[in-house]
Amino acid sequence: MNEAFLMKILWNMINRPDDLWCKILYNKYGRNTDLRVSINAKSYDSPLWRALAGIGDQFRSHTVWQMGNGQKVNFWLDKWMTDGHSLMNHSTQQMVDTTLTVKDTLTATGEWDINFLTANLPLTIVNQLVAIPAPKDTDGPDALGWSGTNTRQFTVQSAYNLQRGNYLSIDGNWKSLLSWKGPHRIQTFMWIAAHERLLTNFRRSKWRSDISPTCSVCGNEDETIIHVLRDCIHATQIWIRLVASNHITNFFSLTCRDWIFYNMEGAHNKEWQTIFMVACWHLWTWRNKSIFEDDFRRLNNPTHVILKMAMEIDRCE
Ligand SMILES: [Zn+2]
Repeated sequence: MNEAFLMKILWNMINRPDDLWCKILYNKYGRNTDLRVSINAKSYDSPLWRALAGIGDQFRSHTVWQMGNGQKVNFWLDKWMTDGHSLMNHSTQQMVDTTLTVKDTLTATGEWDINFLTANLPLTIVNQLVAIPAPKDTDGPDALGWSGTNTRQFTVQSAYNLQRGNYLSIDGNWKSLLSWKGPHRIQTFMWIAAHERLLTNFRRSKWRSDISPTCSVCGNEDETIIHVLRDCIHATQIWIRLVASNHITNFFSLTCRDWIFYNMEGAHNKEWQTIFMVACWHLWTWRNKSIFEDDFRRLNNPTHVILKMAMEIDRCE
């Protein structure tokens, strides 16, 4: 239920930004970002703000745009079509301008621009799209809706139901992740990783033409999730020390999602689940630091740090 309440807080901050407590929280931590698009936390922010940032991705996956004048809705990235997907998945072009709002794509007279649409989208999608009335200035501002209720208004119960459904939506044994007793931030991280939603260079490059898909650490391969967490040189060196030798071949041959679930189920022994999750979380954290912090140096003894934290977590259980 905890996450459903956090989502309620986020919902209120987005839809009732003038409430005093929303103003205070946003002014302190919001850093002028649009909470509908992203929510960032620093390690020294309050636990509440960090928890809100932790559920940001899941929250967004449950929101849909209700079109008003089309000035805020992002044409490619936001989910505003009736099928609940973003148009990004349907683009027929290699590169698209992801800064376009829906309003930007209309003709000068405010109609759907058929030339633009057919040049960028398959005909079936264009047909669905032009069936929607083009947004007009008189329609008022765009609004964010909640996908869990028919009224598009948020309720805690619907958020709870959506979260439960979401956990079960992708095949795999989520039980081992949900019953894990370690830090919530690591649990959430693994949840996002298992849904293949980490913002790697490879994923970001699909949205923005100025971002390279290549790994910025080794420069050898596309930076996919499995690359950061297993196949990049730093990761491989760590795993070779952690994984028992008779499991090595299997460990390095599974595909991303199978690999995550197999290891989260504690494939090797009882302690393995925690070691695996802690190691993945550290690999991602170190990857971020090496990109965003100029003075970051990689540790000499990363496996020691991982094993120590894993032991402390299991001891507290
Ligand atoms: Zn690499």
